Amino acid sequence: MARMKGPIGGPEDPRHGTFNGYSNLLCRCDPCKATAKEVNAIAKVERFTRPKTGKEHWHGTYNGYHNYNCRCGPCTAGNTIRSRELRIRSLIRKGLPTPEEKRLDKEFAISKLKAHGTPKSVEIGCRCSKCMTYITKKFNLRRLSEGRAIHGKASTYSYGCRCIDCKLANKIYRHEQYARGGNRYPRKKVSK
Ligand SMILES: [Zn+2]
Ligand SMILES: [Zn+2]
Ligand SMILES: [Zn+2]
Ligand SMILES: [Zn+2]
Repeated sequence: MARMKGPIGGPEDPRHGTFNGYSNLLCRCDPCKATAKEVNAIAKVERFTRPKTGKEHWHGTYNGYHNYNCRCGPCTAGNTIRSRELRIRSLIRKGLPTPEEKRLDKEFAISKLKAHGTPKSVEIGCRCSKCMTYITKKFNLRRLSEGRAIHGKASTYSYGCRCIDCKLANKIYRHEQYARGGNRYPRKKVSK
């Protein structure tokens, strides 16, 4: 390939479509870009597959993770940190709230809640025990209504299933509870 000196010329210049044209002469015509892309792809494969000694200078960096495809502990950690920074920077640039801001907003909203275990508290994102109970109940009621409930469980009984398995499980559960000394309130008579 002709290695002429000086800036790249018109379409007749034989240096178009060479890596030199792209990287040294800074030409961005289609043939030069295509060649550069190919060369970079080959170099990337070479970097990816080159055996690693563990002593390379790039360990622990985003570069090591992405450009050398290294998944060692430090490179993975380096990538996590850098990715987070990049994501936060892009959020700030777009004027969107960062995860930290969102977390603080959520905490603030939760601290202002008047009641827990309600659709609102759950939607805001509270996961206290009361809210968790609400979520579980909602989930189980949905399973039951979709006919996907797990039968033979006292909890399924409590969500309204009266199949023979759930009735039995509930009976056993009540007995155990009674034996432990809990729930001594007189039970409502369930008509058979
Ligand atoms: Zn070119
Ligand atoms: Zn590494
Ligand atoms: Zn809550
Ligand atoms: Zn059942």
